Amino acid sequence: MPPTASSRPLAVVVACALLAASAAAQRPSPPSTNHWLDAYRDTAAQLIKAATADDFAWRRLAELTDTFGNRLSGSDNLARAIAWAADTMRKDGLENVRTEPVMVPKWVRGRESAEIVDPPRHELAILGLGGSVATPPGGVEGEVLVVSSFDELRGRAGEAKGRIVLFNAPFTSYGDSVTYRTGGARAAAQAGAVAALVRAIGPIGLRTPHTGSLQYGQGVPPIPAASVSVEDADRIARLTARGRAVRVRLTMEARFEGEIESANVVGEIRGRERPDEIVLLGGHIDSWDLGTGASDDGVGCIVTWEAARLMARLGIRPRRTIRIVLWTNEENGLRGATAYAQRYAADAANHVFALESDSGVFEPASLGFTGSPMARTIVREIGALLTPIGFSDIVAGGGGADIGPIAQAGNAPTMAYLGNPGRYFAIHHTPADTIERISPDEVSKAAAAIAVMAYVIAEMPERLPTR
Ligand SMILES: [Zn+2]
Repeated sequence: MPPTASSRPLAVVVACALLAASAAAQRPSPPSTNHWLDAYRDTAAQLIKAATADDFAWRRLAELTDTFGNRLSGSDNLARAIAWAADTMRKDGLENVRTEPVMVPKWVRGRESAEIVDPPRHELAILGLGGSVATPPGGVEGEVLVVSSFDELRGRAGEAKGRIVLFNAPFTSYGDSVTYRTGGARAAAQAGAVAALVRAIGPIGLRTPHTGSLQYGQGVPPIPAASVSVEDADRIARLTARGRAVRVRLTMEARFEGEIESANVVGEIRGRERPDEIVLLGGHIDSWDLGTGASDDGVGCIVTWEAARLMARLGIRPRRTIRIVLWTNEENGLRGATAYAQRYAADAANHVFALESDSGVFEPASLGFTGSPMARTIVREIGALLTPIGFSDIVAGGGGADIGPIAQAGNAPTMAYLGNPGRYFAIHHTPADTIERISPDEVSKAAAAIAVMAYVIAEMPERLPTR
């Protein structure tokens, strides 16, 4: 049965909301007394109950990751996963299910290895960085120059020629540390290095290198680059600090094999009154070629899709359209997001809200929001409906690489489902990104939270104010 909704004008809602917010600021845990929400409470409770009643969503994630494995752009695995997702969405009763073609780059890792040749011979745990070029067939060999920052490399640029530069910057936050993965090869090449190694971008693991994209610079020769485990990076750093010269040989077969047609998968619950207004939810279906891309980002696809599946199953058809997009090629090109923004450029302003789940679902999780203060007040109030599943507040800052282009074009408020970063970045872009790390409960709660948030925003009489 379709839900009923409050008909209170937005101004009143917001005025009440602001009053409630300022009162709430004086109380540590505000009771959810926002009467405008009363119209949504029953449906929200239904969605939470259905999402958390069993481990359906986790089992679907297991089906995705077991059946298709990891899903790098251009791979057969990804193509099969996309076909399965579209087919399964149709069986779920989603509407207008389609695959929207996108050309994506096909990068292939090939065989790769690295070793300290002296002193003593030691095999390094490495992973070539996505987009890297190959070494010559016999590998490149050179003495390692260890630096802990770009500044140190600039200061010692005269020592880099013909050597392998190891960026050994300790992990602080992903946003800061990842600059060595994306920009290390370029900086090393500018200084004349023959290859670059980058300390794994993650908290200490179990000798786990982390892959991810690099970016070569214009006018700078592309040199082969790989991530090296924290343990191996530290070992090289200790040896050189004692004055020992460390020679490393790196061998990589990485290459591009042109472009291949892939697709974004799209499915909807068409809005009953304003079908042209879109509440956009999604994750990316591609992954790196390691593990099974369970956290990054199989689970983001499953939990957003599950929000729509639950609505279809419960017969909930909100005022606006709920649109699920499983994006392709987030990891090494963002072609899916770019193609979507181009295809729907004329409808950008009809995207009233966009949510991306691409940070895993590890608890404690939160929802982050980016939008106007007025919109923020409203989503925080909606967030009160999530207290039964442990959400206390909506944190500041929420967006995503895939929703970015369309949300920016349409000035749409954005939200991110944010899993615990400590657990997420421990396995991010590694062979350890498998479903064993994720509990069914975490998947169910994420689906419930996203379903409730999307439902209320799609159902409210007035659209969420723009950014
Ligand atoms: Zn991702």
